[in-house]
Amino acid sequence: MDIDLELEMKYIYEGNPYDYERVEYEVVRHGEQFGMNMGYLDCNDIWCSNVLAAQAGEWDIRAYIRYNHPTYGYQFVYSNVVTLEIFYPEVDNIKVDPTIVSEMEDAWNAAVNASGPGNLEERGFSIYGNTTSGSLVYEVKYGNPSPGGSSEETEIIINYTGESKVYPRNGVKFSVAWFHTHPPHRWCTGCRRTGIPSPEDNTISTNKKIPGILMDYKEFSLCYDHDLDLNTGLKTFGPGRRIYDENILN
Ligand SMILES: [Zn+2]
Repeated sequence: MDIDLELEMKYIYEGNPYDYERVEYEVVRHGEQFGMNMGYLDCNDIWCSNVLAAQAGEWDIRAYIRYNHPTYGYQFVYSNVVTLEIFYPEVDNIKVDPTIVSEMEDAWNAAVNASGPGNLEERGFSIYGNTTSGSLVYEVKYGNPSPGGSSEETEIIINYTGESKVYPRNGVKFSVAWFHTHPPHRWCTGCRRTGIPSPEDNTISTNKKIPGILMDYKEFSLCYDHDLDLNTGLKTFGPGRRIYDENILN
């Protein structure tokens, strides 16, 4: 994506702006004042190329030049402000990423293997995007294994720590989605609906404004003594991509 910034003389400046030292690029969250919580882009000169889209959100960007006047000191010329929206990754892309696919399969197998008579197990993890290498890679952080017994739910922390208002020019790690399995029903009495998020699952995604991915058996429902090796499928729920909300950063 290319954006154009035009440096414009808004005031009568003393001296010669063409004697500027260098161009600086400032970034703030859209709507914030430049000055507080300001970040900078790493650019060397009037051309600012291949800048990493390090963090999703709406950002306001402007440039300025500074030059020194022997009598009046430093003079500044600012550009227009351009608003840029960087989107969080879509859950449809996250769920087919090879790293995530492999982790989901491992989690499924772990949940099935850990389940047994009187013991339901599910597994899950939060999914992060990490841009510190210069491109987006996905990482997972497993929640506590479910305690088994009467409670089969895995405890997954969806963590927004590390995300701030300041643009992280060197990249950052940020939450993009969460994943969990549902447990087999082989050792339980009765039947259960499969492949649908629970009300609690939906509440988490709604409150945290983040997509959820559920892995479960593909059957419509499962009853006691079912085959553990039935095919699995994925169901996504919540928003299609994370929605930034500074009020729920923690
Ligand atoms: Zn669930």
